[in-house]
Amino acid sequence: MSSDPNCIFCKIVAEQIPSIKLHEDADTLAFMDINPLNPGHCLAIPKAHFADVFSIDAATMAKTATTARRLARAVNAALAPPGLNLVQANGPAAAQSVLHFHFHILPRSESDVAALNWAPKPGNRDEIAAIAERIRAKLER
Ligand code: 5GP
Ligand code: ZN
Repeated sequence: MSSDPNCIFCKIVAEQIPSIKLHEDADTLAFMDINPLNPGHCLAIPKAHFADVFSIDAATMAKTATTARRLARAVNAALAPPGLNLVQANGPAAAQSVLHFHFHILPRSESDVAALNWAPKPGNRDEIAAIAERIRAKLER
């Protein structure tokens, strides 16, 4: 299993630094975030080190998503937040601060300050279609 000695989440997997664990299986781990946006904010990660969605394999991501779903349902049942986002960041512009793939299980309230929400405004349909063509051309099987 790949591990990065400088990665804080690999250190959590290896129990070199403590965490408040919620779930552990052979491939994934879930634990409380130390800087919660709202009560119940937690993280689901693969135990193996992958930096982001571009490097993780599909099977490992699926297992991590399954753990995130399980945690989302438990947080919802335990705390009943008004809303909950699953958030997964890739790259500095997307506010990824830990370069080990993770899903945030992020309880939300109407009044919190997470800068995730945007006001929808219609795009140009021709531009949208042209961009879709460029993406389709890069879709892997
Ligand atoms: P990102 O900004 O990469 O999407 O999210 C990284 C998350 O990891 C942040 O919400 C941050 O609070 C959390 N985090 C960073 N270091 C630690 C740590 O040592 N322990 C725990 N439990 N969470 C951490
Ligand atoms: Zn790591």
